[in-house]
Amino acid sequence: MSYRGRFAPSPTGPLHAGSLVAALASWLDARAHGGKWLVRIEDVDQPRCIAGADREILRQLAACGLLPDEEPVWQSQRGALYQAALDKLVAQDLAYPCACSRKDIEEALRAQGHAKERHGELVYPGTCREGLHGKAARAWRFRVADGVTQWTDRRLGEQSQDVAAEVGDFVLKRADGLFAYQLAVVVDDAAQGITHVVRGEDLADNTPRQVLLQRALGSATPAYLHTALVLGASGEKLSKQNGAAALDVSDPRAAVLAAAAVLGLEVDGADLGDVLSASVRAWASRWP
Ligand code: GLU
Repeated sequence: MSYRGRFAPSPTGPLHAGSLVAALASWLDARAHGGKWLVRIEDVDQPRCIAGADREILRQLAACGLLPDEEPVWQSQRGALYQAALDKLVAQDLAYPCACSRKDIEEALRAQGHAKERHGELVYPGTCREGLHGKAARAWRFRVADGVTQWTDRRLGEQSQDVAAEVGDFVLKRADGLFAYQLAVVVDDAAQGITHVVRGEDLADNTPRQVLLQRALGSATPAYLHTALVLGASGEKLSKQNGAAALDVSDPRAAVLAAAAVLGLEVDGADLGDVLSASVRAWASRWP
């Protein structure tokens, strides 16, 4: 098997200290395995993207010595692939149209006497599973079968989630016509032949949904490693949404050393090249 890894930033702003950790971890794992490292710009959610952030991210990565082995791809140009995957799921009755607004979902959950939420997302009560009841389709959802989905993370170990109970039938194509992250990421990881996914632990919770989609689409499940996150001063996850500062790459050696320290790598080096080589060696012995 030839190793293919990727870093998949959403261009909602420039890289910050936390996203450099994810980028570096995925790059180190690819280098430690003698594999290829790809960059995919995840700009499916166009309203959240910031013009020029994609180029800025690529510039910051390059300044830190992280150069993709193939031309980057942009999800906004890959809609036909996502639609083909959705069509395939619809043909198998694994995806269905949904007419519910958020208000409809809230009301249905209230009528059932419970409103389960997961990260601000309501667990879909299944209103449109058996048909639209004469209403117009707004979104498309994945039909989640009952049962527990298990997967193994190289760092977190054995993981499991009851997706039907904890998430419900999740959205594949949104009411605004945009494809959901879950579908796009699975289609692209398969289309790009990704064998290893290394990304931040905040995304671990999405993995069972992605595993279900891989199975439904007949794609291989890559190996997963979810890294520790950089936390802000008050313990919250660093993110563009909570105003993390753009990564300063005027001293790339210092930026990479800081990211390596978050990954638990005790390395040093006179220049950026030395720090990167030492980090590859340290990573290889830690995550064979
Ligand atoms: N685009 C996602 C993000 O920036 C990452 C997706 C992934 O690595 O699977 O949070």
